[in-house]
Amino acid sequence: MRNLTCALLLICTHCFGQKKEIQNIASIVSIERLKKNLYYLASEQLEGRVMGSKGDTLASEYIINCFKENHLAAPYNNGTSYFQTVNSYRKNLLQSQLIIGEKKYENWNGWGFGMRSVESVLLDNIPVVFAGYGIENSLYNDFANIDVKGKAVLLLTGQPQDSTGIYLLSGTKQAAIISSYQNVLRDKGASLILLYNNRFAAESSIQQKSAFQAVYKIPFLQNNNLPVIMLSEERANELLAHSDKSIKSLARDITKTLRPQSFVVNNTVSCHIKIDITEEKAPNVIGVINGSDSTAGCIILSAHHDHLGKDGNTIYYGAVDNASGTVAIMEIAMLMNKAVEKGFRPKRTIIFASYTGEEKGLLGSYHFSTNPLFPVEKTHAVLNIDMMGRVDTFYTGKRADSNYAYILVIDSLNRGLRKALFTANEKLGKLKLDTYYEQPQFMQRRLMGSDQYPFYLKGVPFIRIDCGFSKDYHQPTDTPDKINYELLSDQIKLAFLTTWNIAND
Ligand SMILES: [Zn+2]
Repeated sequence: MRNLTCALLLICTHCFGQKKEIQNIASIVSIERLKKNLYYLASEQLEGRVMGSKGDTLASEYIINCFKENHLAAPYNNGTSYFQTVNSYRKNLLQSQLIIGEKKYENWNGWGFGMRSVESVLLDNIPVVFAGYGIENSLYNDFANIDVKGKAVLLLTGQPQDSTGIYLLSGTKQAAIISSYQNVLRDKGASLILLYNNRFAAESSIQQKSAFQAVYKIPFLQNNNLPVIMLSEERANELLAHSDKSIKSLARDITKTLRPQSFVVNNTVSCHIKIDITEEKAPNVIGVINGSDSTAGCIILSAHHDHLGKDGNTIYYGAVDNASGTVAIMEIAMLMNKAVEKGFRPKRTIIFASYTGEEKGLLGSYHFSTNPLFPVEKTHAVLNIDMMGRVDTFYTGKRADSNYAYILVIDSLNRGLRKALFTANEKLGKLKLDTYYEQPQFMQRRLMGSDQYPFYLKGVPFIRIDCGFSKDYHQPTDTPDKINYELLSDQIKLAFLTTWNIAND
C-alpha cells in the first residue's frame, strides 16, 4: 500500500513536471519566425500557390525543409520522401450552347452553370414543361398533372409563399425543409433542369469573376445529379413565348392561388455542353513524429498550403487562407521536436499533413484519407487548422475581446477532444473559445468547408480551430501585413498544447 502510494506520487510528479515542461516549450513560439515563414508563403514569388503550380511546389519544398530540420520522419519511398502525389482530374469546358427554338446562345449570355456540378450534356430538341418549384408534397404538388420524363423542366427558385411572405409548406416565414428538386426530378426521369434565377446578373458576374480558377472533379460528391442550367428572365420568357405567360406572371399566379400552375410549354430546347477531363498531379507533404506506444494509433495535425493562384497579374496571396495554418503546423513541428529532444515523446504518433487542393474541393485531404499512413480505425483524431491570426468581421470593433478562436469539435467516439482543447486553453489562459459555428444552422457548411471533412465521413473525430472570415476572404487583399501575429502566436500555442493533450490522453 505504502509502496503503491509512493509509486503514484512519483508518477504524478513526473506528469506535473512534464506538463510544466510542455507549457514552457509552447512559450518558445517565435513571432519573428512566424512572420518570416508567412511572408514567404504569401509572397509574390509563390503566386498564390494554386494546386499543381510552381508556387505549390515551392511551398511544399519550404515545408519539407522545416520538417527535415525538425527531424520529422519521411514516410514515403523507404523513408526518403515527404511527398504524397495527389492525382486530380481537371474539367475543361470545350463547348457550351443553349438553343431555344432557333436561337443559339453561348454560355453566360442569359444562361449559365457551375462547372463543379455539371458534366457533359448533349440534348437535342427536347420538350419543355413548367413545373413551378419542383415540389411533390401532400400540401402542394407541382407534378400532379404533368409528366416530366425525358423533358427539360423550367423551375422557379424557392417555395410557394403567400402575399405576406408566409411559406405554404411551413406556415411560417422560414422555408420548410423538403427534399431537393434535383432528387425529385431525377427520380421522375427528367433530362434537364432550367432554373429561373431572379438574381441572374449578380450570380453570373460572381461566377465569371472566379472563371480563372480551374475546376476539378470532386471525388466524394455523387455525380448522378441532373444538370442544372441557370436562366435569366429574358431566356425564361423566350421559352414561354408561345404561351400567354411570363416567368414572373407564373410566380405571381402561384402566390395568388397557392396552387400549382404546371403546364406543357409549347417549345423545345437543345443543350450542348462538352467537358473533357485531364489528369494532373500535385503534392501533399506528410511528416511524422513517431509515438512512444506503437499500439496507440495516430493523430493527424493538418492544414492546407494551396490557395487560389492568380488571375492575370493579380495574385491571390492567401495569407490567412491558409499560409497561416501552414506556418502553424511548421511551428508545431518545431515545438514537438523540442519536446522529443527533452525526452518527452508523445504517446501517439503525430502525422503532420500539409495538403494541396483544398480550394479545389478538399482533393489533398480526400486523397490522404483514402491512402493514409495508419488505417482509419487507428486514427485517434484529426486537428485541422484553416485560417488563423486575423480578427474577423464579427470581432472587429464589435466585441471588446478579440483574443479568440472559433472551434468546431465533433467527437463521435468520445475521445475527450473538447476537454483536451479546453484544458490546453486554461493552461495558457489566453483565448475565448467561441462555439458560434457549432450552431446547427452553420455546422454543415463549416464541417464540409475544410480538410477535416473526408475524415469525418470515415468516422474520425476532429477539432477544427480557426479565426473566421474577414472582408479579405478569397480576395487578392488577403496579405501577410494584415495578420495579427500576437493572436496567431496564441492560437498556435493552443493548437500545440491541444495536440499534445490528444496525443497523450
Ligand atoms: Zn479558402
